[in-house]
Amino acid sequence: MSNQNLATITQNLRKAFLSQKTRKLDWRYSQLKAIKKLITENKEQITAAVKKDLGKHDFEIHQTEIVMPQTECEEAMSHLESWTKTEKVYTPIPLKPASSHIIKDPLGVVLIISPWNYPVNLALVPLIGAISAGNCALLKVSRHSYNVGELLYKLCTKYLDPECFAFDFEGGAQYITDLLEFKWDHIFFTGSVNVGRIVYQAAAKFLTPVTLELGGKNPCIIDKDVDIAFAAKRIMWGKCWNAGQTCIGLDYLIVHKSVVAKLVDEFKVVLKEFYGDDIKASSSYARVISKQHTERLSKLFSNGEVVIGGEADVESRYISPTVILNPDMDSPLMQDEIFGPVLPILTYENIDDALALIQSRPHALTLYLFSRDQKIQDQVLVGTQSGSVMLNDVLLHFTNPALPFGGVGDSGIGSYHGRLTFDLFTHRRALVQSTTKKFLDLPFRYPPYTQFADKV
Ligand code: NAD
Repeated sequence: MSNQNLATITQNLRKAFLSQKTRKLDWRYSQLKAIKKLITENKEQITAAVKKDLGKHDFEIHQTEIVMPQTECEEAMSHLESWTKTEKVYTPIPLKPASSHIIKDPLGVVLIISPWNYPVNLALVPLIGAISAGNCALLKVSRHSYNVGELLYKLCTKYLDPECFAFDFEGGAQYITDLLEFKWDHIFFTGSVNVGRIVYQAAAKFLTPVTLELGGKNPCIIDKDVDIAFAAKRIMWGKCWNAGQTCIGLDYLIVHKSVVAKLVDEFKVVLKEFYGDDIKASSSYARVISKQHTERLSKLFSNGEVVIGGEADVESRYISPTVILNPDMDSPLMQDEIFGPVLPILTYENIDDALALIQSRPHALTLYLFSRDQKIQDQVLVGTQSGSVMLNDVLLHFTNPALPFGGVGDSGIGSYHGRLTFDLFTHRRALVQSTTKKFLDLPFRYPPYTQFADKV
Protein backbone atom coordinates (compact mmCIF):
# COMPACT_ATOMS: atom_id res chain seq x y z
CA MET A 1 0.00 0.00 0.00
CA SER A 2 1.39 3.41 -0.91
CA ASN A 3 1.94 6.17 1.62
CA GLN A 4 -0.68 8.13 -0.31
CA ASN A 5 -3.24 5.44 0.54
CA LEU A 6 -2.09 5.33 4.14
CA ALA A 7 -2.45 9.10 4.36
CA THR A 8 -6.05 8.80 3.15
CA ILE A 9 -6.78 5.96 5.60
CA THR A 10 -5.37 7.83 8.60
CA GLN A 11 -7.20 11.02 7.60
CA ASN A 12 -10.48 9.13 7.35
CA LEU A 13 -9.94 7.53 10.75
CA ARG A 14 -9.20 10.96 12.22
CA LYS A 15 -12.34 12.37 10.61
CA ALA A 16 -14.41 9.53 12.09
CA PHE A 17 -12.93 10.15 15.53
CA LEU A 18 -13.62 13.88 15.33
CA SER A 19 -17.25 13.15 14.40
CA GLN A 20 -17.55 12.03 18.08
CA LYS A 21 -19.47 8.87 17.23
CA THR A 22 -16.96 6.66 19.10
CA ARG A 23 -17.57 8.64 22.29
CA LYS A 24 -21.13 7.37 22.51
CA LEU A 25 -21.64 4.30 24.71
CA ASP A 26 -24.18 2.88 22.27
CA TRP A 27 -21.57 2.80 19.54
CA ARG A 28 -19.04 1.10 21.83
CA TYR A 29 -21.58 -1.54 22.88
CA SER A 30 -22.52 -2.15 19.26
CA GLN A 31 -18.87 -2.71 18.26
CA LEU A 32 -18.15 -4.99 21.23
CA LYS A 33 -21.27 -6.98 20.40
CA ALA A 34 -20.06 -7.18 16.81
CA ILE A 35 -16.70 -8.61 17.92
CA LYS A 36 -18.47 -11.17 20.05
CA LYS A 37 -20.69 -12.10 17.13
CA LEU A 38 -17.70 -12.22 14.80
CA ILE A 39 -16.11 -14.86 17.05
CA THR A 40 -19.27 -16.84 17.84
CA GLU A 41 -20.55 -17.03 14.26
CA ASN A 42 -17.17 -17.93 12.79
CA LYS A 43 -15.65 -20.29 15.35
CA GLU A 44 -15.16 -23.03 12.79
CA GLN A 45 -13.54 -20.79 10.20
CA ILE A 46 -11.25 -19.27 12.82
CA THR A 47 -10.25 -22.71 14.09
CA ALA A 48 -9.55 -23.92 10.56
CA ALA A 49 -7.41 -20.87 9.76
CA VAL A 50 -5.33 -21.18 12.96
CA LYS A 51 -4.92 -24.88 12.22
CA LYS A 52 -3.56 -24.10 8.77
CA ASP A 53 -1.06 -21.61 10.18
CA LEU A 54 0.08 -23.41 13.34
CA GLY A 55 -1.12 -26.99 12.89
CA LYS A 56 -2.42 -27.28 16.41
CA HIS A 57 -5.30 -29.07 18.06
CA ASP A 58 -8.82 -27.57 18.18
CA PHE A 59 -8.68 -27.67 21.98
CA GLU A 60 -5.63 -25.40 22.13
CA ILE A 61 -7.18 -23.09 19.55
CA HIS A 62 -10.44 -22.92 21.48
CA GLN A 63 -8.76 -22.04 24.79
CA THR A 64 -6.55 -19.24 23.52
CA GLU A 65 -8.14 -17.89 20.34
CA ILE A 66 -11.85 -18.21 21.09
CA VAL A 67 -12.46 -18.28 24.86
CA MET A 68 -10.03 -15.51 25.84
CA PRO A 69 -11.17 -12.80 23.40
CA GLN A 70 -14.79 -13.73 24.19
CA THR A 71 -14.16 -13.39 27.94
CA GLU A 72 -12.42 -10.03 27.46
CA CYS A 73 -15.32 -8.84 25.31
CA GLU A 74 -17.91 -9.91 27.89
CA GLU A 75 -15.90 -8.32 30.68
CA ALA A 76 -15.72 -5.03 28.76
CA MET A 77 -19.46 -5.06 27.99
CA SER A 78 -20.46 -5.76 31.57
CA HIS A 79 -18.23 -3.02 33.05
CA LEU A 80 -18.31 -0.42 30.29
CA GLU A 81 -20.68 1.90 32.10
CA SER A 82 -18.68 1.97 35.33
CA TRP A 83 -15.30 2.17 33.55
CA THR A 84 -16.39 5.16 31.45
CA LYS A 85 -18.13 7.03 34.27
CA THR A 86 -16.65 10.37 35.22
CA GLU A 87 -15.14 10.07 38.71
CA LYS A 88 -15.75 12.75 41.31
CA VAL A 89 -12.64 13.28 43.43
CA TYR A 90 -11.58 15.30 46.47
CA THR A 91 -11.37 19.09 46.16
CA PRO A 92 -9.07 20.97 48.58
CA ILE A 93 -10.61 23.87 50.56
CA PRO A 94 -8.78 26.68 48.67
CA LEU A 95 -10.42 25.44 45.44
CA LYS A 96 -13.96 25.28 46.89
CA PRO A 97 -16.77 25.68 45.99
CA ALA A 98 -15.42 24.16 42.76
CA SER A 99 -15.70 20.40 42.25
CA SER A 100 -13.04 18.08 40.81
CA HIS A 101 -13.56 15.21 38.40
CA ILE A 102 -11.68 12.76 36.20
CA ILE A 103 -13.15 12.33 32.72
CA LYS A 104 -12.34 9.15 30.76
CA ASP A 105 -11.40 10.52 27.36
CA PRO A 106 -10.54 8.32 24.39
CA LEU A 107 -7.00 8.85 23.07
CA GLY A 108 -8.07 9.24 19.42
CA VAL A 109 -6.70 7.18 16.53
CA VAL A 110 -4.52 4.30 17.66
CA LEU A 111 -2.26 1.79 15.91
CA ILE A 112 -2.25 -1.88 16.99
CA ILE A 113 0.46 -4.20 15.63
CA SER A 114 0.00 -7.88 16.46
CA PRO A 115 2.21 -10.97 16.00
CA TRP A 116 1.55 -14.41 14.50
CA ASN A 117 1.82 -16.76 17.50
CA TYR A 118 -1.69 -16.22 18.93
CA PRO A 119 -2.93 -14.36 15.88
CA VAL A 120 -6.58 -13.91 16.91
CA ASN A 121 -6.16 -13.29 20.63
CA LEU A 122 -3.28 -10.81 20.35
CA ALA A 123 -5.12 -8.82 17.67
CA LEU A 124 -8.65 -8.79 19.10
CA VAL A 125 -7.94 -8.30 22.83
CA PRO A 126 -6.16 -4.93 22.34
CA LEU A 127 -8.82 -3.97 19.79
CA ILE A 128 -11.54 -4.68 22.39
CA GLY A 129 -9.76 -2.26 24.75
CA ALA A 130 -9.42 0.40 22.06
CA ILE A 131 -13.15 0.13 21.28
CA SER A 132 -14.22 0.17 24.95
CA ALA A 133 -12.25 3.37 25.44
CA GLY A 134 -13.86 4.97 22.35
CA ASN A 135 -10.95 5.06 19.91
CA CYS A 136 -10.63 4.59 16.17
CA ALA A 137 -7.91 2.09 15.22
CA LEU A 138 -5.76 0.65 12.50
CA LEU A 139 -5.08 -3.01 13.24
CA LYS A 140 -2.04 -4.44 11.50
CA VAL A 141 -1.91 -8.21 11.96
CA SER A 142 1.12 -10.33 11.11
CA ARG A 143 1.46 -11.63 7.58
CA HIS A 144 3.23 -14.77 8.84
CA SER A 145 -0.08 -16.18 10.10
CA TYR A 146 -1.50 -15.50 6.66
CA ASN A 147 -4.62 -17.64 6.81
CA VAL A 148 -5.77 -16.05 10.07
CA GLY A 149 -4.78 -12.59 8.81
CA GLU A 150 -6.81 -12.96 5.64
CA LEU A 151 -9.83 -14.24 7.58
CA LEU A 152 -9.62 -11.56 10.27
CA TYR A 153 -9.40 -8.92 7.56
CA LYS A 154 -12.55 -10.28 5.92
CA LEU A 155 -14.47 -10.63 9.18
CA CYS A 156 -13.43 -7.35 10.79
CA THR A 157 -14.29 -5.47 7.60
CA LYS A 158 -17.71 -7.16 7.55
CA TYR A 159 -18.64 -6.89 11.25
CA LEU A 160 -17.09 -3.62 12.44
CA ASP A 161 -17.81 0.03 11.64
CA PRO A 162 -15.77 0.68 8.46
CA GLU A 163 -15.50 4.40 9.19
CA CYS A 164 -13.72 3.84 12.49
CA PHE A 165 -11.38 0.94 11.76
CA ALA A 166 -8.84 -0.08 9.15
CA PHE A 167 -7.10 -3.44 8.83
CA ASP A 168 -4.07 -4.88 7.10
CA PHE A 169 -2.70 -8.43 6.97
CA GLU A 170 -0.35 -8.33 4.02
CA GLY A 171 2.24 -5.68 4.80
CA GLY A 172 5.68 -6.61 6.13
CA ALA A 173 8.51 -4.63 7.71
CA GLN A 174 8.34 -1.86 5.08
CA TYR A 175 4.60 -1.41 5.63
CA ILE A 176 5.15 -1.03 9.38
CA THR A 177 7.98 1.42 8.72
CA ASP A 178 5.53 3.42 6.58
CA LEU A 179 2.83 3.27 9.28
CA LEU A 180 5.30 4.66 11.79
CA GLU A 181 5.74 7.77 9.61
CA PHE A 182 2.26 8.88 10.69
CA LYS A 183 1.25 10.42 13.98
CA TRP A 184 -0.84 8.07 16.11
CA ASP A 185 -2.36 8.82 19.50
CA HIS A 186 -1.08 5.53 20.89
CA ILE A 187 0.84 2.55 19.50
CA PHE A 188 0.17 -0.88 20.93
CA PHE A 189 2.89 -3.23 19.69
CA THR A 190 3.28 -6.94 20.40
CA GLY A 191 6.43 -8.53 19.02
CA SER A 192 10.16 -8.92 19.48
CA VAL A 193 12.47 -6.73 21.54
CA ASN A 194 14.35 -5.61 18.41
CA VAL A 195 11.30 -4.40 16.51
CA GLY A 196 9.96 -2.95 19.79
CA ARG A 197 12.99 -0.65 19.88
CA ILE A 198 12.30 0.48 16.29
CA VAL A 199 8.66 1.24 17.16
CA TYR A 200 9.66 3.13 20.32
CA GLN A 201 12.17 5.28 18.43
CA ALA A 202 9.67 6.10 15.69
CA ALA A 203 6.99 6.97 18.27
CA ALA A 204 9.36 9.31 20.12
CA LYS A 205 9.48 11.59 17.06
CA PHE A 206 5.76 12.39 17.60
CA LEU A 207 5.80 11.98 21.42
CA THR A 208 3.34 9.12 20.87
CA PRO A 209 2.78 6.97 23.96
CA VAL A 210 3.45 3.27 23.44
CA THR A 211 2.61 -0.07 24.93
CA LEU A 212 5.30 -2.60 24.07
CA GLU A 213 4.44 -6.23 24.71
CA LEU A 214 7.77 -7.90 23.99
CA GLY A 215 9.55 -11.20 24.49
CA GLY A 216 12.83 -12.43 25.87
CA LYS A 217 14.17 -15.41 27.75
CA ASN A 218 11.92 -16.63 30.58
CA PRO A 219 13.72 -18.68 33.23
CA CYS A 220 12.19 -21.49 35.27
CA ILE A 221 13.89 -22.58 38.50
CA ILE A 222 13.27 -26.09 39.82
CA ASP A 223 14.11 -26.65 43.46
CA LYS A 224 15.07 -30.06 44.85
CA ASP A 225 12.07 -30.37 47.20
CA VAL A 226 9.30 -30.59 44.58
CA ASP A 227 7.47 -33.62 43.22
CA ILE A 228 9.58 -33.96 40.07
CA ALA A 229 7.05 -36.05 38.14
CA PHE A 230 4.37 -33.40 38.75
CA ALA A 231 6.71 -30.51 37.88
CA ALA A 232 7.87 -32.33 34.72
CA LYS A 233 4.27 -32.71 33.56
CA ARG A 234 3.44 -29.03 33.96
CA ILE A 235 6.74 -27.84 32.48
CA MET A 236 6.57 -30.06 29.40
CA TRP A 237 2.91 -29.14 28.87
CA GLY A 238 3.89 -25.43 28.94
CA LYS A 239 6.90 -25.94 26.69
CA CYS A 240 4.91 -27.86 24.06
CA TRP A 241 1.81 -25.61 24.13
CA ASN A 242 1.75 -24.01 20.66
CA ALA A 243 5.08 -25.82 20.03
CA GLY A 244 6.83 -23.42 22.38
CA GLN A 245 5.85 -20.34 20.35
CA THR A 246 4.56 -18.46 23.38
CA CYS A 247 5.94 -15.17 24.70
CA ILE A 248 5.50 -16.36 28.29
CA GLY A 249 6.81 -19.83 27.45
CA LEU A 250 9.64 -21.35 29.46
CA ASP A 251 12.84 -20.46 27.65
CA TYR A 252 15.35 -22.29 29.84
CA LEU A 253 15.41 -24.29 33.09
CA ILE A 254 17.72 -23.82 36.05
CA VAL A 255 17.47 -27.08 37.96
CA HIS A 256 18.95 -28.19 41.27
CA LYS A 257 21.82 -30.51 40.39
CA SER A 258 20.45 -33.37 42.52
CA VAL A 259 17.21 -33.71 40.51
CA VAL A 260 18.32 -33.16 36.88
CA ALA A 261 18.54 -36.84 35.93
CA LYS A 262 15.13 -37.59 37.45
CA LEU A 263 13.59 -34.60 35.68
CA VAL A 264 14.90 -35.72 32.26
CA ASP A 265 13.51 -39.23 32.90
CA GLU A 266 10.12 -37.79 33.85
CA PHE A 267 10.10 -35.62 30.71
CA LYS A 268 10.42 -38.80 28.66
CA VAL A 269 7.48 -40.34 30.53
CA VAL A 270 5.16 -37.36 30.10
CA LEU A 271 6.01 -36.91 26.42
CA LYS A 272 4.89 -40.48 25.85
CA GLU A 273 1.73 -39.84 27.89
CA PHE A 274 0.92 -36.69 25.93
CA TYR A 275 1.79 -37.69 22.38
CA GLY A 276 2.38 -41.48 22.28
CA ASP A 277 5.33 -43.06 20.51
CA ASP A 278 5.10 -40.96 17.38
CA ILE A 279 4.98 -37.30 18.38
CA LYS A 280 4.98 -36.16 14.78
CA ALA A 281 1.77 -38.07 14.14
CA SER A 282 -0.02 -36.71 17.21
CA SER A 283 -2.84 -34.26 16.47
CA SER A 284 -2.14 -32.63 19.87
CA TYR A 285 1.29 -31.32 18.86
CA ALA A 286 1.54 -28.03 16.94
CA ARG A 287 3.79 -26.99 14.08
CA VAL A 288 6.30 -24.15 13.77
CA ILE A 289 4.95 -21.09 11.95
CA SER A 290 7.36 -21.22 8.96
CA LYS A 291 10.13 -23.24 7.34
CA GLN A 292 12.51 -20.40 8.13
CA HIS A 293 11.79 -20.65 11.88
CA THR A 294 11.96 -24.47 11.72
CA GLU A 295 15.42 -24.18 10.21
CA ARG A 296 16.48 -21.64 12.83
CA LEU A 297 15.30 -23.94 15.64
CA SER A 298 16.99 -27.04 14.18
CA LYS A 299 20.33 -25.22 14.28
CA LEU A 300 20.00 -24.87 18.07
CA PHE A 301 20.47 -28.63 18.55
CA SER A 302 24.26 -28.33 18.22
CA ASN A 303 24.61 -26.01 21.23
CA GLY A 304 24.86 -28.68 23.98
CA GLU A 305 24.05 -32.33 24.76
CA VAL A 306 20.69 -33.36 23.29
CA VAL A 307 19.09 -35.78 25.77
CA ILE A 308 15.54 -35.81 24.36
CA GLY A 309 14.34 -35.23 20.79
CA GLY A 310 16.53 -33.32 18.40
CA GLU A 311 14.45 -34.11 15.32
CA ALA A 312 13.48 -31.60 12.68
CA ASP A 313 11.57 -31.78 9.42
CA VAL A 314 11.72 -28.41 7.74
CA GLU A 315 9.28 -29.34 4.98
CA SER A 316 6.44 -30.15 7.43
CA ARG A 317 7.56 -27.46 9.94
CA TYR A 318 8.12 -30.06 12.66
CA ILE A 319 10.50 -29.74 15.58
CA SER A 320 10.30 -32.47 18.19
CA PRO A 321 10.22 -31.54 21.88
CA THR A 322 13.94 -31.28 22.55
CA VAL A 323 15.84 -31.09 25.83
CA ILE A 324 19.47 -29.98 25.84
CA LEU A 325 21.81 -30.32 28.81
CA ASN A 326 24.71 -28.00 29.60
CA PRO A 327 24.20 -25.55 26.73
CA ASP A 328 27.02 -23.28 25.68
CA MET A 329 26.18 -19.95 27.38
CA ASP A 330 27.51 -17.91 24.43
CA SER A 331 25.50 -19.84 21.85
CA PRO A 332 22.26 -18.57 20.23
CA LEU A 333 20.42 -21.14 22.40
CA MET A 334 21.29 -19.16 25.53
CA GLN A 335 21.59 -15.69 23.98
CA ASP A 336 18.44 -15.40 21.81
CA GLU A 337 14.79 -16.03 22.62
CA ILE A 338 14.15 -19.68 21.59
CA PHE A 339 10.43 -19.41 20.75
CA GLY A 340 10.07 -23.10 19.94
CA PRO A 341 9.95 -26.54 21.65
CA VAL A 342 13.63 -26.61 22.54
CA LEU A 343 14.47 -26.59 26.25
CA PRO A 344 17.99 -26.05 27.59
CA ILE A 345 18.78 -27.11 31.17
CA LEU A 346 21.30 -25.33 33.37
CA THR A 347 22.05 -26.56 36.88
CA TYR A 348 22.69 -24.97 40.29
CA GLU A 349 23.64 -26.04 43.78
CA ASN A 350 23.09 -22.80 45.63
CA ILE A 351 19.95 -20.74 44.91
CA ASP A 352 22.02 -17.53 45.07
CA ASP A 353 23.91 -18.66 41.97
CA ALA A 354 20.64 -19.26 40.10
CA LEU A 355 19.41 -15.78 41.10
CA ALA A 356 22.73 -14.15 40.13
CA LEU A 357 22.45 -15.72 36.68
CA ILE A 358 18.89 -14.41 36.22
CA GLN A 359 19.82 -10.94 37.45
CA SER A 360 22.78 -10.76 35.06
CA ARG A 361 20.33 -10.95 32.12
CA PRO A 362 17.61 -8.55 30.87
CA HIS A 363 14.38 -8.71 32.89
CA ALA A 364 12.16 -11.52 31.62
CA LEU A 365 8.49 -11.27 30.73
CA THR A 366 7.75 -14.13 33.15
CA LEU A 367 9.66 -16.07 35.75
CA TYR A 368 8.69 -19.54 36.95
CA LEU A 369 9.65 -21.28 40.15
CA PHE A 370 8.81 -24.79 41.29
CA SER A 371 9.45 -25.00 45.02
CA ARG A 372 7.52 -25.86 48.17
CA ASP A 373 9.95 -23.95 50.35
CA GLN A 374 8.49 -20.59 51.43
CA LYS A 375 11.98 -19.22 52.10
CA ILE A 376 13.13 -20.03 48.57
CA GLN A 377 9.92 -18.56 47.16
CA ASP A 378 10.51 -15.30 49.07
CA GLN A 379 14.17 -15.23 48.08
CA VAL A 380 13.29 -15.60 44.39
CA LEU A 381 10.55 -12.95 44.56
CA VAL A 382 12.80 -10.29 46.13
CA GLY A 383 15.97 -11.37 44.33
CA THR A 384 14.65 -11.02 40.77
CA GLN A 385 12.53 -8.75 38.56
CA SER A 386 10.17 -9.83 35.77
CA GLY A 387 6.86 -8.81 34.20
CA SER A 388 5.08 -11.59 36.08
CA VAL A 389 5.84 -14.62 38.25
CA MET A 390 4.14 -17.96 38.49
CA LEU A 391 4.89 -20.35 41.31
CA ASN A 392 4.52 -24.11 40.78
CA ASP A 393 2.69 -23.84 37.48
CA VAL A 394 3.15 -22.32 34.02
CA LEU A 395 1.37 -20.06 31.49
CA LEU A 396 -2.03 -19.91 33.19
CA HIS A 397 -1.54 -16.49 34.81
CA PHE A 398 -2.09 -15.10 31.28
CA THR A 399 -5.74 -16.15 31.41
CA ASN A 400 -6.73 -14.07 34.45
CA PRO A 401 -8.17 -10.73 33.24
CA ALA A 402 -7.77 -9.32 36.76
CA LEU A 403 -3.97 -9.48 36.47
CA PRO A 404 -1.81 -6.96 34.59
CA PHE A 405 -0.12 -8.65 31.64
CA GLY A 406 3.10 -7.01 30.49
CA GLY A 407 6.84 -6.81 30.84
CA VAL A 408 9.39 -4.76 32.72
CA GLY A 409 12.70 -3.45 31.42
CA ASP A 410 13.61 -5.18 28.15
CA SER A 411 10.46 -7.34 28.18
CA GLY A 412 8.13 -4.40 27.65
CA ILE A 413 6.42 -1.19 28.62
CA GLY A 414 2.87 -1.11 30.00
CA SER A 415 0.41 -3.88 30.71
CA TYR A 416 -3.11 -4.89 29.71
CA HIS A 417 -6.02 -7.35 30.07
CA GLY A 418 -9.44 -6.62 31.54
CA ARG A 419 -9.90 -3.11 32.91
CA LEU A 420 -6.23 -2.30 32.25
CA THR A 421 -6.74 -2.51 28.49
CA PHE A 422 -9.49 0.07 28.80
CA ASP A 423 -7.23 2.24 30.98
CA LEU A 424 -4.30 2.19 28.58
CA PHE A 425 -6.43 3.43 25.68
CA THR A 426 -7.98 6.12 27.90
CA HIS A 427 -6.75 9.56 28.90
CA ARG A 428 -7.71 10.46 32.48
CA ARG A 429 -8.55 14.08 31.90
CA ALA A 430 -8.68 16.34 34.94
CA LEU A 431 -11.67 18.64 35.16
CA VAL A 432 -12.29 21.35 37.74
CA GLN A 433 -15.69 22.92 37.56
CA SER A 434 -15.55 26.34 39.16
CA THR A 435 -18.32 28.75 40.10
CA THR A 436 -19.50 31.82 38.23
CA LYS A 437 -20.93 33.38 41.38
CA LYS A 438 -19.06 36.61 41.93
CA PHE A 439 -19.78 36.81 45.66
CA LEU A 440 -17.88 33.54 46.16
CA ASP A 441 -14.79 34.97 44.53
CA LEU A 442 -12.54 35.56 47.52
CA PRO A 443 -10.09 38.41 47.04
CA PHE A 444 -7.12 36.57 48.57
CA ARG A 445 -5.39 35.61 45.35
CA TYR A 446 -5.30 38.91 43.51
CA PRO A 447 -2.44 41.47 43.54
CA PRO A 448 -1.17 43.65 44.99
CA TYR A 449 0.40 40.87 47.08
CA THR A 450 1.87 43.42 49.47
CA GLN A 451 -1.42 43.15 51.40
CA PHE A 452 -0.52 39.50 52.26
CA ALA A 453 3.06 40.22 53.34
CA ASP A 454 2.32 39.00 56.90
CA LYS A 455 0.96 35.64 55.54
CA VAL A 456 4.33 34.46 54.14
P1 NAD B 1 8.57 -9.41 15.27
O1 NAD B 1 9.00 -8.33 16.19
O2 NAD B 1 9.61 -10.09 14.47
O3 NAD B 1 7.53 -8.83 14.23
C1 NAD B 1 6.49 -7.97 14.64
C2 NAD B 1 6.09 -7.15 13.46
O4 NAD B 1 7.14 -6.25 13.14
C3 NAD B 1 5.82 -7.98 12.21
O5 NAD B 1 4.60 -7.57 11.65
C4 NAD B 1 7.01 -7.69 11.30
O6 NAD B 1 6.62 -7.66 9.93
C5 NAD B 1 7.42 -6.31 11.73
N1 NAD B 1 8.84 -6.03 11.51
C6 NAD B 1 9.87 -6.91 11.44
N2 NAD B 1 11.03 -6.25 11.25
C7 NAD B 1 10.72 -4.94 11.19
C8 NAD B 1 11.49 -3.76 11.00
N3 NAD B 1 12.81 -3.79 10.84
N4 NAD B 1 10.84 -2.57 10.99
C9 NAD B 1 9.50 -2.51 11.18
N5 NAD B 1 8.73 -3.60 11.36
C10 NAD B 1 9.32 -4.80 11.36
O7 NAD B 1 7.72 -10.46 16.17
P2 NAD B 1 6.94 -11.74 15.68
O8 NAD B 1 7.90 -12.67 15.03
O9 NAD B 1 5.70 -11.34 14.96
O10 NAD B 1 6.48 -12.34 17.10
C11 NAD B 1 7.34 -13.01 17.94
C12 NAD B 1 7.86 -12.12 19.04
O11 NAD B 1 6.76 -11.50 19.70
C13 NAD B 1 8.60 -12.89 20.12
O12 NAD B 1 9.71 -12.15 20.52
C14 NAD B 1 7.58 -12.97 21.25
O13 NAD B 1 8.14 -13.12 22.53
C15 NAD B 1 6.88 -11.67 21.11
N6 NAD B 1 5.54 -11.75 21.70
C16 NAD B 1 5.27 -11.03 22.81
C17 NAD B 1 4.01 -11.13 23.39
C18 NAD B 1 3.67 -10.37 24.63
O14 NAD B 1 2.47 -10.28 24.92
N7 NAD B 1 4.60 -9.82 25.37
C19 NAD B 1 3.04 -11.96 22.83
C20 NAD B 1 3.37 -12.66 21.69
C21 NAD B 1 4.61 -12.55 21.12
